[in-house]
Amino acid sequence: MQWTVRLEARTSADEVTTTELVTFSRPGVVSTLAEVGLMLDETKTLLAKLQAGMLCGQVAAYAAFHRACAACGVLQPLKDRRTRRLQTLFGTVEVEAPRFKACRCRLATSLAAVTVSPVCALLTARCTPELERVQAELGARTSFRDGARILESLLPVSPANHESLRTRTHAVALQLEAADRQAAAEVTAVPHKPDKAAVADTSRPVVMLDGAYIRAVPGHQTRNFEAICGKVEHEGHATRRFALVRSVAGQPHALLRAALLDQGWREGDVVTAISDGDPALPALVRSATGGPVEPILDWFHLSMRVQHVEQIMGGLCTLEPPLLVPLDHARIDVERLRHLLWNGHHEKAREALNRIASWAKDAIALDEPGVEAKARRLAARCTELRSYIENNEGALIDYGQRHRDGKPISTSRAEGTVNQLVSARMNKRQQMRWSPRGAHRVLQVRVAVLDGRFGHPAIQLAA
Ligand SMILES: [Zn+2]
Repeated sequence: MQWTVRLEARTSADEVTTTELVTFSRPGVVSTLAEVGLMLDETKTLLAKLQAGMLCGQVAAYAAFHRACAACGVLQPLKDRRTRRLQTLFGTVEVEAPRFKACRCRLATSLAAVTVSPVCALLTARCTPELERVQAELGARTSFRDGARILESLLPVSPANHESLRTRTHAVALQLEAADRQAAAEVTAVPHKPDKAAVADTSRPVVMLDGAYIRAVPGHQTRNFEAICGKVEHEGHATRRFALVRSVAGQPHALLRAALLDQGWREGDVVTAISDGDPALPALVRSATGGPVEPILDWFHLSMRVQHVEQIMGGLCTLEPPLLVPLDHARIDVERLRHLLWNGHHEKAREALNRIASWAKDAIALDEPGVEAKARRLAARCTELRSYIENNEGALIDYGQRHRDGKPISTSRAEGTVNQLVSARMNKRQQMRWSPRGAHRVLQVRVAVLDGRFGHPAIQLAA
């Protein structure tokens, strides 16, 4: 049996042209299941021919239409015939790109070009926006090599190598970043008076920030470099992620600013920034908003440090001989520590830490075997926690109250973002190494893909 696929093109003037695309042959009576229906290779051939037929027809119609002078309607004389190649999801197509001698009426009045090539004006890029978007999305979701393999196995796209995926991903990242910079710059010009509802505490946007380490390519000055990842949450808006490698981001604050604006934040509104105590993170939020920021030390990171003290104390309690007198006092303070910090009594927590550290030193002095090493660690952890509290004095709050108010107190959701953005794409294989610039660009596309913003009509991915 034979099946022939024909492409019938009908113009608006009802002119019909039919082109034969492909013919598939099969035994009249199939003998195995494998012979039933279309094969992938046949489909790829069919798609490529269909694409070529449709695209060449469209381009030819475009050239014919624009051959007429836009000013006087006279047909411009043909100068020569050239060709242009256009990469698409369904193959690379060579199209005719005729050049015309510019109409006399134009040459007489202005400095217009002597020749015009409408097709070259139409094909502003070497590939279709759709191919660029699909390649970039794959490049952001999976490794460039895997992405190229997926494309190549399913579609007649060419070239489908990993280099072209990388190039497209980078190109789209630059477009996304430029769009963010533009969005961030535009609003500055519009003065905004915060209305009462927006100032109300409940509707304050919350920025959760966290850092992640990415392995650097050999030859980079450090073995790892840091990416800043985060989320912006604001009541009534879909959460928006952002990620950047500070050293290579053109304007790191602009990326965050664009995310905030997208969340309904306006110049002058207070933003809450939850982070792990790295002063660079709230500073980034400050430079993004250019205004008031309420910093909050992430409860999770604080709680982890309290847990270290609790664990060592727990270990000491199980030792023989049972509790030495100085440690008995310390135990009571350790048990209060979490409660004090949770409820915002950080001054009292610091005093308690001082007492625990000094009792721990007394216990070291007792020279009791088995106790000394643990007591030393207890003292060290207490000193660490105390300086952590001191360094983040302005970012400690009454966590209990905020939690009861139903507001976020932790970046744990930002850490989920780190996993989604960085770990899943950048660190899943030991041998994966990145240049800061490459990582930064993939992150821009990945953020847009995961947010569901990718391919949105508002984002002009290609001219
Ligand atoms: Zn003319």
